[in-house]
Amino acid sequence: MNCANSSKRILVTGGAGFIGSHLCKRLVEEGNDVICLDNFFTGSKKNIEKLLDCRNFELIRHDVTEPILLEVDQIYNLACPASPVHYQYNPVKTVKTSVMGAINMLGLAKRVKARILQASTSEVYGNPSVHPQPEEYWGNVNPIGIRSCYDEGKRVAETLFFDYYRQNHVDIKVIRIFNTYGPNMNADDGRVVSNFIVQALKGEDITIYGDGTQTRSFCYVDDLVEGMIRMMNSLEGFTGPVNLGNPGEFTMLELAEKVLGLIGSKSKIVHKPLPADDPAQRKPVIDLAKKELDWEPSIVLDEGLRRTIEYFRGVV
Ligand code: NAD
Ligand code: UDP
Repeated sequence: MNCANSSKRILVTGGAGFIGSHLCKRLVEEGNDVICLDNFFTGSKKNIEKLLDCRNFELIRHDVTEPILLEVDQIYNLACPASPVHYQYNPVKTVKTSVMGAINMLGLAKRVKARILQASTSEVYGNPSVHPQPEEYWGNVNPIGIRSCYDEGKRVAETLFFDYYRQNHVDIKVIRIFNTYGPNMNADDGRVVSNFIVQALKGEDITIYGDGTQTRSFCYVDDLVEGMIRMMNSLEGFTGPVNLGNPGEFTMLELAEKVLGLIGSKSKIVHKPLPADDPAQRKPVIDLAKKELDWEPSIVLDEGLRRTIEYFRGVV
């Protein structure tokens, strides 16, 4: 671990989670003074334990639904459970985390004149009737379903970001993250990549929900973090929203076969009921990220899965 001198003071909310922990590591290695804020709902100290010895890394146990006073130059707002199992555990809290979290962090950004980036999601497109999804598409979201606490919470957060931008001139950046995977995912958080890998490593049945023809586009976490940092440091006035994801599109059946092949597992594929409102297809248009950020993913699914499988071999 390279703990260099600081250049910027950066707050990462949700920094002990899957994506946040990779982002914190990268920002610390680049010599920034990083403050990680987390309530440890789905994140863990283990994800950031190697950073705790760095003098340019600080950890604060705090809930983003409560205000906080800090002096920072940049804020990455990631705090929010991301897997359906966790965001549906306490849906009211999920809405509060997205909405009150955004208000508190935007208020902080306004007070200290910090630049602030919102980790929004492809879920703002809901079950998309336009395929693949460009940023101009307004989405097809059920406002009262079991995924709505997450989807609508994130949509209101985007609204708040743009209202603070227009009304208070806060320097905002909004990214829409598509399904991301890699080391530090929770083994038991129910997302498809971690589920399939853990099941295949343990020789348990691979659980495909529905017939497995639904599609997702999977981005390796290192590619995503590169895109996040490029967006944060992009020209002032380029607010986004900008899609960040890997345009490779796979059915869940294809993903299961890949995982089984890479692990050499004899696990059987079984089918379980498809959860309500599960999007049938998802694939980002990333022309805007290419043009404005000179960014596109470089790690193909097979390579990313190999690295993720390596990580899970040490966990399960
Ligand atoms: P994660 O669940 O691993 O991380 C979320 C982190 O936020 C955890 O450390 C959790 O403890 C923390 N947190 C939750 N509620 C909080 C609260 N009220 N106060 C403080 N901290 C809180 O999820 P992730 O995959 O790392 O996702 C990070 C962000 O990226 C989320 O905002 C998520 O919506 C967004 N995102 C992720 C994906 C993906 O595929 N992983 C896709 C789209 C968007
Ligand atoms: N899925 C699946 N088996 C699992 C977990 C998920 O078939 O064990 C499916 C799920 O129904 C969805 C896709 O995989 O169609 C992606 O699910 P995930 O929860 O990872 O992300 P999201 O639905 O939020 O894109």
